[in-house]
Amino acid sequence: MSILVVGSVALDYLETPYGVREKALGGSATFISIAARYLAPDVRFVGIVGGDFPQAHIDDLTARGIDLLGLERVPDGRTFSWGGRYHEDMNHRDTLYTELGVFAQFNPAIPDAWRRSDIVVLGNIHPSLQSHVLDQMEQPGVVICDTMNLWIDTSREALLDTIRRVDVLILNDQEARQLTGERNTVAAGRRLLDAGPSRVVVKKGEHGAMLLSRDGVFFAPAYPLDALKDPTGAGDTFAGGFAGALAASPARDDEAFRRAVVYGSVLASFCVEQFGVEGVAELDAERIAGRYRAFVEMVRYTP
Ligand code: AMP
Repeated sequence: MSILVVGSVALDYLETPYGVREKALGGSATFISIAARYLAPDVRFVGIVGGDFPQAHIDDLTARGIDLLGLERVPDGRTFSWGGRYHEDMNHRDTLYTELGVFAQFNPAIPDAWRRSDIVVLGNIHPSLQSHVLDQMEQPGVVICDTMNLWIDTSREALLDTIRRVDVLILNDQEARQLTGERNTVAAGRRLLDAGPSRVVVKKGEHGAMLLSRDGVFFAPAYPLDALKDPTGAGDTFAGGFAGALAASPARDDEAFRRAVVYGSVLASFCVEQFGVEGVAELDAERIAGRYRAFVEMVRYTP
């Protein structure tokens, strides 16, 4: 099954109590694709970079089997760059800067051969661009959408228009409250179900993720870690693992989506153990399966 991924590609500045990285490979499309590719053979990447984007990153993504046909290169432009600083409590971060560069002119064009992709993951980009992508797709099986507080603040109506057209909305608890005005995350999730998607995933960082649908509520804890170095990209990696798990099986019942939440949590747990993409870059099927089994064991009990 194929997964089409659209999102940002970035050279990030990352600062946490454990260190600093400059010009680290990042961006929503990058994290999503790397994670999804471990579980799905056909990952299609749509993004934009400038002339400063190292060829080594392109070679690395290609070597992973990620199809870069949809990666636009603008030789005389600069790649999107984001700087973030985390404090002792890594649940909170400050954005130090956002330099759009070529991202300001991003107008995702989906290659003809990709218009019939099975799963579409709309990574974090302006919601009207997300809608523009959907306009180009032909009856995708599942559309998954991620977003961020910036778009809730600045482009609320466009975001609501996009949300109306997606099957699964993934956002964090603070964003769910901000978007709905509800204080309670379960109430917020239910309100979002009325806004279009048949499933809503509300992420609560180290406190796990909740899946809401008309079938009920499922809750998965986060995998317990004693060494967390950099949370950047955890949300995107979750979305990549989630999509990858769906691509691995044709099942679309509640069980399939529950499994996808657990795979998303497993992949995200590797992400936060290292800086940037480092934590997800060095995985293999065996390590993912091992942590998946450990996860299942962790929540097992005898009723
Ligand atoms: P996350 O930690 O899951 O929110 O994702 C972090 C990634 O999002 C970083 O690699 C950033 O480059 C990227 N990012 C930050 N701000 C934006 C933005 N406004 N639009 C798109 N991507 C962004």
